[in-house]
Amino acid sequence: MTENFSGDFTQQEPIPQAGIDAALAVLQHGRLHRYNTAGDEIAETALLEEEFAAQTGARFCLAVASGGYAMTTALRACGIGHGDTVLTNAFTLAPVPGAIAAVGATPIFVDVTEDLVIDLDNLKSKLDQASVLLLSHMRGHICDMDALMAMCDAANVTVIEDCAHTMGAHWNGTPSGRFGKFGCYSCQTYKHVNSGEGGLLISDDADLMARAIMLSGSYMLFERHRAAPSAETFAQIKYETPNISGRMDNLRAAILRPQLADLATQSDRWNARYRVLEQGLRETPGMSLPNRPAREGFVASSFQFLLLDWPSQAVQDVLLRCQKRGVELKWFGGAEPAGFTSRYDSWRYVDAAPMPKSDRILAGIIDMRLPLTFSEDDCALIAAIIQAEVSAVWQSTISPKT
Ligand SMILES: *Cc1c(COP(=O)(O)O)cnc(C)c1O
Repeated sequence: MTENFSGDFTQQEPIPQAGIDAALAVLQHGRLHRYNTAGDEIAETALLEEEFAAQTGARFCLAVASGGYAMTTALRACGIGHGDTVLTNAFTLAPVPGAIAAVGATPIFVDVTEDLVIDLDNLKSKLDQASVLLLSHMRGHICDMDALMAMCDAANVTVIEDCAHTMGAHWNGTPSGRFGKFGCYSCQTYKHVNSGEGGLLISDDADLMARAIMLSGSYMLFERHRAAPSAETFAQIKYETPNISGRMDNLRAAILRPQLADLATQSDRWNARYRVLEQGLRETPGMSLPNRPAREGFVASSFQFLLLDWPSQAVQDVLLRCQKRGVELKWFGGAEPAGFTSRYDSWRYVDAAPMPKSDRILAGIIDMRLPLTFSEDDCALIAAIIQAEVSAVWQSTISPKT
């Protein structure tokens, strides 16, 4: 088999026509700022918040400038600041520890399991070290949320969920983002909806959301929000909360609203592609695939597999051979952070203790984007290429030694 793949791993689908039309209408009337409305017009941003709150079942929603800003705002609203510690995943992306650093706090990393979720035993042993867990559902892998919440509730640890890769996903029927005090989402191009940049924050807690709204730069215009707590909630909070501007604008909101309406359909399309890859790779020697429990309603906008305990030279060989055939894979075990791969010890502003258990797993994680511009046939070809190249390297360098 020598067929190569020629698709582009960073090419997303175009913005749906309804989003383009809505964006053009905003450009034509010129009222891009969320508080710039004419007469009884309702801003696109306020409508987006209302719709996302309804979609997730949250009482409140706030649209902001990025996923990173959503997390920083959630931490600030919870009172996290200079000198505090915050628990978070060792396997996550740079904006997560970055959000913790942004409020002057220090991350304490928690191990990752072979199924690419947070290690609940390791978490349990660290619950006395912080009052907040910023839980990253990294690459869309959702841990046993019932067990995690029981453990955090018992220890009085507030959970904030990073749902950058779980918009539209759920655990046991409850939407991801609805377990913690806040759910934080990203609307940047590589996530599940695309406005270039953008973020969403949801919560059921009126005081916390009032703080988040003031933090985002609401001036005294919070009554123009719809998915927001009542004006009375702001009575004191409006005086006490600094303005750290990071609002979303009406143009992005207009682009996003039709995409949110399509989210369930898009999720099914992602998962159909995931299943083709999973099927095609199931019998590959030396490779393991993360187990996906029945309670995990994931949205597979990316694909991961593990080459556990492989020598780094052999992993690099696999990456190179796949690359030559048009399949772009990223490796979390590389010596240097590259592109979107980095790990807890890449963030040297944190004085992190060594994590041998996570090191072993991170050294085996191979990561692949799964844009919807790929067809299921494309995914079958990609799986065949990966399977052939992993098998070849396995046979020539690893299996003889085992
Ligand atoms: C993308 C991402 C974020 C936030 O992203 P922004 O670029 O700030 O919108 C947060 N967590 C994870 C795991 C991400 O991949």
